[in-house]
Amino acid sequence: MAVLKFEKESEKSRLTVWDMLSDSQREEAFAFCEGYRQFLDRGKTEREVVDFAVSMAREKGFCDLSEKSGLLPGDKVYSVNRRKEMVLAVVGQESLERGLRLVGAHIDSPRLDLKPEPLYEDEGHLSLMKTHYYGGIKKYHWVGIPLSLHGVVVKGDGTVVKVSLGDAPGEPVFTITDLLPHLSKDQMEKKMSEGIAGEALNILVGGIPVKDREVKQRIKQGVINRLGDMYGISEEDFISAELQAVPAWPARDVGFDGGLLGAYGQDDRVCSYAALRALMEIETSARTAAVLLADKEEIGSTGNTGMQSAFLENFVAELVAGRDEKYTDLSLRRCLAASCGLSADVNAALDPNYEEVMDKLNASRIGRGVVLTRYTGVRGKSGSSEAGAEFVGRVRGLFNGQGVYWQTGELGKVDQGGGGTIAYLLAAYNMDVVDCGVALLGMHSPFEVASKADIFMTYRAYSAFLQHI
Ligand code: MN
Ligand code: MN
Repeated sequence: MAVLKFEKESEKSRLTVWDMLSDSQREEAFAFCEGYRQFLDRGKTEREVVDFAVSMAREKGFCDLSEKSGLLPGDKVYSVNRRKEMVLAVVGQESLERGLRLVGAHIDSPRLDLKPEPLYEDEGHLSLMKTHYYGGIKKYHWVGIPLSLHGVVVKGDGTVVKVSLGDAPGEPVFTITDLLPHLSKDQMEKKMSEGIAGEALNILVGGIPVKDREVKQRIKQGVINRLGDMYGISEEDFISAELQAVPAWPARDVGFDGGLLGAYGQDDRVCSYAALRALMEIETSARTAAVLLADKEEIGSTGNTGMQSAFLENFVAELVAGRDEKYTDLSLRRCLAASCGLSADVNAALDPNYEEVMDKLNASRIGRGVVLTRYTGVRGKSGSSEAGAEFVGRVRGLFNGQGVYWQTGELGKVDQGGGGTIAYLLAAYNMDVVDCGVALLGMHSPFEVASKADIFMTYRAYSAFLQHI
């Protein structure tokens, strides 16, 4: 793709990526998003994304790092952490002490998790399940919509039962009912944040009682019997389960021209998919290229599958040891500190309905290309790992040279914004890192919207970074 140049400086504010793409490039962008659509529909949880990414990787010749003894340039390897986090790499020609080129995204998204004791019967007429929401949600988004259930149940004997119910046509869905407007006077007068209570996010799961009238909670028992028939699980098995309720709809084209894509969980599966595709086209490169798909970003990157765990560091140590038998702690530290990374995460696009929350000069816009975000954080950049001017300059120069159409972004006005990414945790290894990803409308809503041109451009940006920075 040619370097994008504006005839006049004034064009910069009104041209979009679409203006820069030739007809064949537009087709390429649309085709890319068809692959992304499948990725979204088959990967509604971090576990499903990992399964899908492993199959993508194996098809492209990647193998599990544990299957290897010793690494050579061009080797393609991956490692999976507890089926919920993943890292992949294409081993470069140069010594690992020269560092990695890393793109780090996350594959968890806001949702409703079932509680450890979810199931109950209410007043002898309905059975419901209690939830504890995960990540930053607006609770009113989650009532009155069809939900599907995804996850695993681990039985007492260790058997893992996979659950995915509600997305295929003909399957039943679940829902959280909302109050009719006629009876909502009190609810409507509450603050929006209090209109739906966290403890009221209870999912409707059944309504037919068992025939035996001696049974105490006959509707709940009906659900338990059904779960036994379908999955061979008992009520106690919920204690060792990870079940998530997510919107039950597939990704859809948005708008008359189909130039936008709407779906649940684009934060941050959009960057994850773009990064995977960019990595998988590399056959050989000077530096080792790697992609991280982290879990738990939405709740602070905590836990053994979040960015705060040693998983990435351990993987890099294995790479260093695989390339050089004389592995030392110093060689690992040199590798990490010489690395540079993109924290591949979404940015809040200027929403025409809510322009007042953004500084319009610095906000990202739909259709204007991949977003470079120098800092996140809130009220004085608190919590941000601000990217240095030198590194941002390098990335800017790279994108300009490689024909990547890009823009800058922030996460809202100085005292209103917020939100973090995994950038600060990568920066903690003393590597250069900057946030870079897709602009979204409706971020963290059940139907997030992105431009297909931006999605395609993000893939091109990661491709340029992994191969050429
Ligand atoms: Mn994110
Ligand atoms: Mn998020």
